[in-house]
This record gives sequence, C-alpha cells and structure tokens, in this order.
Amino acid sequence: MNEQSIAAILHRQREAFRAGPPNLAQRRETLKRLGHAVKASAEELAQAVSADFGHRSRHETLMADIFPVIAAARHARFHLRRWMRARTVWPGLELAPSRARIMAQPLGVVGVVSPWNYPVNLALTPLVAALAAGDRVMLKPSELTPRTAETLKEMLGGLFLEEEVAVVLGGPEVGAAFCALPFDALLFTGSTEVGRKVLAATAETLTPATLELGGKSPCVIAPGADLAQAAACIAVGKLLNAGQSCIAPDYVLLPAEIKPIFVKLFTETVNKLYPSLLDNADYTSVISDAHYMRLTRMVEEARQSGAEIVVIDPANENPPPSSRKFAPTLILDPSEDLCVMREEIFGPILPALGYQTFDSALDFVNARPRPLALYYFGPEDRNLRRLLAGAHAGGVTVNQTMSHFVAENLPFGGVGPSGMGAYHGEAGFRAFSHAKPVLLQSRLDSRILLRPPYGKLTEA
Ligand code: NAD
Repeated sequence: MNEQSIAAILHRQREAFRAGPPNLAQRRETLKRLGHAVKASAEELAQAVSADFGHRSRHETLMADIFPVIAAARHARFHLRRWMRARTVWPGLELAPSRARIMAQPLGVVGVVSPWNYPVNLALTPLVAALAAGDRVMLKPSELTPRTAETLKEMLGGLFLEEEVAVVLGGPEVGAAFCALPFDALLFTGSTEVGRKVLAATAETLTPATLELGGKSPCVIAPGADLAQAAACIAVGKLLNAGQSCIAPDYVLLPAEIKPIFVKLFTETVNKLYPSLLDNADYTSVISDAHYMRLTRMVEEARQSGAEIVVIDPANENPPPSSRKFAPTLILDPSEDLCVMREEIFGPILPALGYQTFDSALDFVNARPRPLALYYFGPEDRNLRRLLAGAHAGGVTVNQTMSHFVAENLPFGGVGPSGMGAYHGEAGFRAFSHAKPVLLQSRLDSRILLRPPYGKLTEA
C-alpha cells in the first residue's frame, strides 16, 4: 500500500469521526463483538501464528496472544462507564462559586504499529483501548508475521467498516510512511532503535506517541530467596515463546556462592518443562534464520571469550538450525563487553552473573539503560524496599516473572529507552482520550472585581 492510499484512509476515518463519538452502549457493543470474534477465530489465529514462526506452541498463542485480548475487551466493557464519567473537581476558592470538571474526549484517529513476537495481543490490545476511548483506528502489523497479519485483516474487515478500523499491511517503508501521518495519537510497539525513528517522525506532526520498546530486563535474586522457586519462575518466563518476549528475564544477578545450585535447579526445571525440543509442540521456534544466526553468534562470542556455557538439550537432539529450535543456554559470568550483555537477547539464552553484595547488584542494574521490566526474588525485606525505591524499570514483578503484564489494573509501559507512556486497562483508555478541563462559571462571577481599571482596586 502506498503513502497516498494510507493517507486517504486516515482522511476518511477523520471525516467519519466528525459525525460524533460513539456513546457508552455503542462502545460496549463494539468491544463485545471484538471479543467474540477473537474467541471464534482463536484456532485460525493460532495456526497462522505457528505458520509464521515455523512452530509456535498453540497453548502459548492461546495463553499469551488470544486470552489477554478477550480479557482486555471484557475488562474495558465492565469499567467503561466509570472511565467515561466526567470527574468533578474543586475549582479553587478564587473561582467560587463556579464548577469544574475533567471530561474524557476521544482523540480521533489512532495509529497502532505492532511487532511480530505476540502478533495478536500487541495488535489488538491497543485496539481495545482505542475503541473503548471512542477512537477510530489504523493498524500496521509486522511484516515478519504475514499470515497472522492477513488473518487479522480479514477478521477485522468482517467486523468494522474501513472508516472505523483499517489494517495496513507492509514492511519498514510502509511503517515509516504510516508513522509520518498526522494521527491524533500513535502507539508503537517494537525495538528501541525503530522507536527513535518513530518519535522523530511524530515530532514533525506533533502527534502524541506512546512507545512500547525493548531492553534488557534483569532478575535479581536476593539473599534468602527460595532458589528452587526462583529458578523455576525464571525458566518459565525465559522460555515462553523461546525467550522472544519484550519482558522476558534477560539476565540474572545472584549471590556468587549459590550460582552452581542455581545452574543445577534451572537445568532440572528445563528438563521437566521440555523433555525434548525438536518435536515438542510446547517449544516455540525462533522467528527467522537471521534471528537464529544472531543468537548463535552471541553464544559463539561468549564461548570464545572463555565464559562457561551450559547448553540444555534434554533429549540430546542437537536440533538443526533448519528447525530454528534454539536450545536453552546458560552463560555464566560473561564479561560486560559481550553482545549478550550489551544487546537485548530476545531468545532462550540466559546470562547468570554472580555478585558479592546486594548493593553491587543494584549498582549493576542502575548503571545500565532503564529496562522494561525488573524481577526480584527474595523476602519482602529491606533489600526489596531498596530495589523498589532505587532501581528504575517500566514495571516490577516480585517472586515471579512477567505477571505485572497481565494485571489489568496496572499500567504497562517502559521508562527512558524502554518506552514512554503506558496502556492496558484504564491507562489505555486515558492514553487515547484527551482529559479536557472544563470550567463552568456561575453567573455570580467573583472575579468581577479583578477587571481594569486596576488603580481603583489598589486605592480602595
Ligand atoms: P521492530 O522495531 O523491528 O518492528 C516493529 C514494527 O515497526 C513492525 O511493524 C515494523 O514493520 C515497523 N517498522 C520498522 N521500521 C519502521 C520505521 N522506520 N518506521 C515505522 N515503523 C517501522 O521490532 P520487532 O522486531 O518487530 O519486535 C521486537 C522488538 O519489540 C524488541 O525490541 C522487543 O523488546 C520490542 N517489544 C516491546 C514490547 C513492549 O510492550 N514494550 C512488546 C513486544 C516487543
């Protein structure tokens, strides 16, 4: 699709928006229809995602791509009346007896750009938020998951007029043209590198942008942690979608003396979770040959640097590169200049670094770009309080991984290079609404005394 035809859709959506925003009942109905359609298309979507990945666990697609969208639509329907209600505030003594309120007004046309790693969830959860807010939506899914993008286009095309919701297909060039359009708001989910370009494009049109980006999300295991629980939770979080999650634990910091026990427990857990890799329906493939090669190079570089590598291949299958099933791999104490410690891993490789003091672990986290997520394992004691007060991260889960993403009442987003703005639940509704302040002056205007000529006032 070329620039002009994308711009023409925006024009038509904007014209249609002028007819007036949908009311509460209409928005609820729209969300209900969307939820039902996603449920009805669940198997078709799971097959499309799997075809795009080479292999994607059906359960992972249902659990992490489909159900969260249905839950988000249900949550929005349930809370919409309260979110839409104008909030009355006290205007201040000097304006008495006027009244003041803040009303949520839909912004207009929202652009959504989504990545490949959770291609249904990250396309449709922002859509839920924008529809709840009463906006029109143009969505550009990732070119790396073309079958899913086609399936979404077909499904949404059956539910909405193009003036309501439109799907624009294409790669980076289409993405760049899309983000240059003067939307009323834009939500971009993707890499920090592309996020920079998107923000530069939205600066030209002064389009408010929510950027959901990536980063290296640390796990900090504190003294006194239940190590078996920590190893199991980290393994589950790391290996979901073969590590291709924006909030996957990227690396682990743990007291140096417990490293050997952690390696043992982590390995045992992986063996239980995935007794085999190659033909295991639960173990997802790496999305492309280029990403597979990138991960292979990371491990090779670490090996050549002398770091200890533990490859966990439970059935000794040595999966061939053509399967793109990358064996879970621990890298022990890699040096900080290696790719695996500089770049977001986005695959089933987990560096584990021993620390001497908890302070040094906090310093390590704080010396690096602010991550999207931070995980802490240990007692709810002074160490946790210090981590929560002192370390910056988009969101935190304590004694588990990833769960903060699923909590509908928690805003989800990054901080600094991992993103700006947030969505999910009410935060999503607010991101796509204008909080419009309205002052209703009483006929008894108390400021009547504050008019020129001011001299009389000061003389009096
Ligand atoms: P990506 O940045 O390469 O692509 C994301 C989207 O941007 C795609 O639709 C792509 O076509 C489009 N795009 C590419 N170039 C563009 C440009 N110049 N202008 C506008 N759009 C452009 O990211 P990806 O590889 O699809 O996804 C992986 C990255 O996304 C990782 O860094 C991951 O951490 C991040 N991510 C973040 C979240 C989050 O919620 N914060 C969620 C999932 C993934």
